[in-house]
Amino acid sequence: MKRPLDPEVSALELVESLAQRYADLPIEAIVKEDLLRRGMAWSKEALEAAARYKRKAYFIFSFDMVPISAMDQGENTKAPEEVRLVGGGFDFRPVIVSVRLNPASPYRIEAENDALILKLDGHSVAAVELQRSPAYYERTLASGKPISDIAPTIEWGYLLYLTVFRLCQYFGAREECRFCDINANYRQQKKAGRPYTPVKAVAEVLEALEIIAETDSESKAYTVTGGSITGRLEGKSEVDFYLQYPEAIEARFPGRWISKAVVQALPKDEVRKLRDAGVQIYHPNYEIWDKKRFEALCAGKARYIGREEWIRRILEAATVFPPEHVIPNFVAGIELAGPGAFESVDEAIASTQEGLEFFMSHGITPRFTTWCPEPLSVLGRDQRGAPLEYHVRLLRAYRDTHAKYHLAAPPGYGEPGAGKAVFSVSSFMDVLPPLPPC
Ligand code: SF4
Repeated sequence: MKRPLDPEVSALELVESLAQRYADLPIEAIVKEDLLRRGMAWSKEALEAAARYKRKAYFIFSFDMVPISAMDQGENTKAPEEVRLVGGGFDFRPVIVSVRLNPASPYRIEAENDALILKLDGHSVAAVELQRSPAYYERTLASGKPISDIAPTIEWGYLLYLTVFRLCQYFGAREECRFCDINANYRQQKKAGRPYTPVKAVAEVLEALEIIAETDSESKAYTVTGGSITGRLEGKSEVDFYLQYPEAIEARFPGRWISKAVVQALPKDEVRKLRDAGVQIYHPNYEIWDKKRFEALCAGKARYIGREEWIRRILEAATVFPPEHVIPNFVAGIELAGPGAFESVDEAIASTQEGLEFFMSHGITPRFTTWCPEPLSVLGRDQRGAPLEYHVRLLRAYRDTHAKYHLAAPPGYGEPGAGKAVFSVSSFMDVLPPLPPC
């Protein structure tokens, strides 16, 4: 089977040629997608400078292209959560990108004259800004656990990410999603000595939020999430386990943050329970539209729930929540990886476009996470992500389908538009039109 690859040109030539061919998309978004799929390297000096800012908290998966055991410079403890790129030869508007570590990437951050610069193939691309570490990152709970373990922030401080269960009960080759390293990442973080609570107690989440609420004005939303629960966890089903958190948070801090939950596609009565617990936005992550690929890559979800039932439940959830508050995630790029992958970018785009059409025609706005081939996942072992052209065309398909159905920007993601977006693991918010001026 042939698999589509990037053309044999340098990484810089590839970006420049796609920026010319897709001039209706912001070049910042094209570089962001490339950084997300290829990862970035750091010079020793740049890494030492970055360690004084907000560091990568490993908020759920590794999102790195090498395991910790291959990080010779201690990148896992020094690299920042995100970078903001500005200016440079392409005159970037600020663009926020999640840091995915890859010492072999053609993208490299270097320190020059007390500043950090992003280089591609040795050519300067943009200035790099880092986010200061919020005051609460220096604090610990009474138990001694750091806040960055219990309630880290991403999206430049916008989102508190509460992975309350750091494992998944879809386990092993026959169940775990093949692009996902949640269980392996948990093991490597523990081995590396990071404080990494497997199941967070409601009380410790509240204790962390108490400290954040006192000292922070930047966070606007929280996400409660974690692995799937196919049996019981602490005697509770998936919905009953996860709803404890928004219920307690909303009782203690009513309306303080936008409340989001990422759990499986649940039956309608369970979706109602989530809503009644205070969840405002529901993410029943769908991962990939194509039927065969869904069944091959998400074997656990296919076996326990099934694709047709998953879709039916998403539509049903849009009768419990407003449709625009039901936001399933697609992992962009896995269509072109592994056995049975699409053989061309055209086919992969056509398939995901069909999924976008289906959901958006029902008022439901999916979103993306750009796939990062993580070596501890099954699909990431061979390290070849999707061609950049696929990611660029997907952004165009998303933007145009979104406009066709006259949808608003998905709620709970901050402002849309180039120069405004904070969502850092895909550029889908960067390519939507900005809000009109007030
Ligand atoms: S359901 Fe799949 S993607 Fe989600 S945590 Fe489990 S294995 Fe990973």
